[in-house]
Amino acid sequence: MASENVAANVAAKGAARTAPVETPFPLATLRHSVSHLMASAVESLFPGAQFGFGPAIEHGFYYDFELPRPLEEKDLERIENEMRRIAKSAGAMVCTEYTREQARERLLERGQKFKVEAVNDIPEGERITFYSHAGWEDLCEGPHVDRLDRPFSFKLQRVAGAYWRGDDKNPMLQRVYGTAFWTKEDLERHLAWLAEVERRDHRHLGTELDLFSHHPEAGGGFIFWHPTLGAVRREMEKFWWELHESRGYMPVYTPHVARETLFAVSGHLENYADLMYAPMAIDELPYRVKPMNCPGHILIYRNRGRSYRELPLRWAELGTVYRYERSGVLHGMLRVRGFTQDDSHIFCTSEQLPAEIAGVLELVRTLLTAYGFEFTAYLATRPKEKSIGSEEVWERAIAALREGAARTGIALELDEGGGAFYGPKIDFKMKDALGREWQTSTVQCDFNLPERFDLAFTDRDGAKKRPIMVHRAIYGSLERFTGVLIEHYGGKFPFWLAPTQVALIPIREAHSVYCRELAGLLAADGLRVRCLDDAGHMNKKIKEATQEKTPFLLIAGDREVAERAVTVRQRDLEQQQKVALEAFRDRVRRLAATRCVSLDAPPV
Ligand SMILES: [Zn+2]
Ligand SMILES: [Zn+2]
Repeated sequence: MASENVAANVAAKGAARTAPVETPFPLATLRHSVSHLMASAVESLFPGAQFGFGPAIEHGFYYDFELPRPLEEKDLERIENEMRRIAKSAGAMVCTEYTREQARERLLERGQKFKVEAVNDIPEGERITFYSHAGWEDLCEGPHVDRLDRPFSFKLQRVAGAYWRGDDKNPMLQRVYGTAFWTKEDLERHLAWLAEVERRDHRHLGTELDLFSHHPEAGGGFIFWHPTLGAVRREMEKFWWELHESRGYMPVYTPHVARETLFAVSGHLENYADLMYAPMAIDELPYRVKPMNCPGHILIYRNRGRSYRELPLRWAELGTVYRYERSGVLHGMLRVRGFTQDDSHIFCTSEQLPAEIAGVLELVRTLLTAYGFEFTAYLATRPKEKSIGSEEVWERAIAALREGAARTGIALELDEGGGAFYGPKIDFKMKDALGREWQTSTVQCDFNLPERFDLAFTDRDGAKKRPIMVHRAIYGSLERFTGVLIEHYGGKFPFWLAPTQVALIPIREAHSVYCRELAGLLAADGLRVRCLDDAGHMNKKIKEATQEKTPFLLIAGDREVAERAVTVRQRDLEQQQKVALEAFRDRVRRLAATRCVSLDAPPV
C-alpha cells in the first residue's frame, strides 16, 4: 500500500524545474481533468465500475474505483489506450448544474453509491455540478480544462489499495495513480526523475548497503541501526555535539519512562494522548514512555531556584521518544514509532530571546549547509483558533523571531496562523539533491509549559519572573534525517560520514603485510578502514568495495610497497592514480577534518 503521508512530505520540485509551457490552465487543472478522462475509460472497459474521488495531487492525479476484479499492470496500458481513443473525440468539458434531487437521481440511475454519498454531503446552498465529456459525466465542482482534445501527455503509473474516505471501516477501493503534463518532454523528464527517486530509495539502499533493518519480532516502526549506519550516526552526533558545546549548550540526560502524572501536568495527556502509548503499571502506578523530552528538562530546571544570572540556560539531549503512528503510514526510516530527537531547550528572559533565536538560526544554517542542503525558513504566527497567551506576548515573540532572522541574514517566508497553540515558531524546509523539500529543523517559543510547571527565576530586582522556553531541534529526528541523507547522497556518503572510508586491497597475498600496516596507520588517524586481505581475487574485492560505495580504494603491489605509495581509486572516477602514502594520508585527514561534502573539493 502506498504511503500518502510520505508522498506529501516529499514536496518535489524536480518536476517543476522546466520552463512552464504557455497554457491557459494550471497543471493541477489538467491533471484533474485527465483523472475524469481515466474514469470514463475505466467505465468503458469495466462496465459497472463504482467511482470514489479523483483529485489532482502533488505530481499527478489518482482516481478510486470499485471494480469487479483487481487491476493488473497490463490493464493500465489498456486504460491508457482507451483514454487516448476517448480524448481524440472528447471535445469540450461541459458543466451542468442540478438540484440535489436531480443529482441523486442521475447517480442512482448508474448505481454510483459512493457518489450518492458524496452528493448527500454537499452542504445546503452549495452548487451541485456535473462535468461531462464524450457523453460521460461525473459529479464534480471543477475546475477543469475547457477541452480534452488539447495536446497533452499522460501516463498511468500504478495501482494501490485505498479505503473509501481513508477509513479502514469502509470498503477498500483500487486507486489508480497517473500523471500528466502539457508536453511529452516534461512527462519524460518527470518519469526519469521518478526513476532516480526510486533508485535512491533509502529502504532499498538500506538493504543493499547493509545499513539498517526492521524486524517483525520487534514490531513495525522500530529501526535497528547496523554497524555501518551506526558509524554514520556517531559522526552525525559528534558533529552535532561539537557545534553545541562550542555554543554554550550543556548536555542533559533524562529517562525514557516517567509517571503519568508528569504528562498530565505537561498537558501531553490532554493534547497528545493519541500519539502516546498506553500506560504500564509500575508498583501499581501508571507510567508512560515519553513522547517528548521537554517535561524531563523542565524537571531539571525546577529542581532548585534559578537566578537571572544563570540565564540563558541551553540544555541539549539526543533524546529518544516514542510516538504512535498508524501502521499504514510507517515508512522506512521516515515515519517510525521510536526515534531520537536532537532536542534542546533554552530557558531565557524575553530580552535575551532575539539573541538566542539568532544563535539557533546560525546553528541550523551551519548544520544543514554542512550536509549540502539548501533551505527555506517559515515564520509561523498565531493560529486563528485555539491559542494561549496575550496578544502582546505573541507580538514580542514574533518580533524576536524576526529580529533573530534579521541578525543572521536568514530570509523568512510567512506561514500565517501556522504557529503552535503555545507560541510562534520558525520551521525549516531543506531541499535535497533531487529538489524535494523536507521539514526538519524547528525553533519554537513556548508560553505554555513555563505556566503549567510554574517555572520562575529571580530577577535583578528580586522579583520572581517567568522564563521563556524555547524548543528547538535541528536534525529533527535522527532516523528521519538519516533516511533523507541516504537518499540525498544516493548511498554515496561524503568521506567524513562513510561507514568505510578507505578499503585496502593487496594485488597478491605478498602485499598483505603492507596493506595491514597501512590499515593500522589510517586507523590511528581516526579513519574507518577495511583491509580486504583474505584469499580471493583482487578484481572481486575491488567490485565488492565499489558496490559498498567506499570513497577510496587503495591498491598495493610490488611498486607501491617499494615506493611506500598507494594506487588510489576514487569513487566514481575511472582513472586511478599512484600517490605517495603520506600525501594520501594528508589528503584524507583534511577531508575528514573539514567534513567536506565532495571528495574532489580541495581540502583547505
Ligand atoms: Zn472534476
Ligand atoms: Zn521541547
